[in-house]
Amino acid sequence: MNSSDKKCKRCLLRDLAEKDRQELGKYIDVLKPEDRAKAEVEEKRLEICRSCDRLENATCLACGCYVEVRAALKDGSCPRKKWI
Ligand code: SF4
Repeated sequence: MNSSDKKCKRCLLRDLAEKDRQELGKYIDVLKPEDRAKAEVEEKRLEICRSCDRLENATCLACGCYVEVRAALKDGSCPRKKWI
């Protein structure tokens, strides 16, 4: 099993293998600047996700999204209302 095959609870894609980080870039790099959350907002959201029991392998089990994509959106929200 290589590192990208392991399930990682409480991890973000940025913490995983290069292949996973490239996958993240595919989604985030296409967002228009006006649709992006401020960097400090995004980071606060991700800190909340990191401590959430619904985060597994960079995915929110409550909605199925990559949390980094959800957190990067200006109008993004947590399905469990832990952040807006
Ligand atoms: S989006 Fe909300 S429910 Fe999903 S992992 Fe983050 S804090 Fe948890």
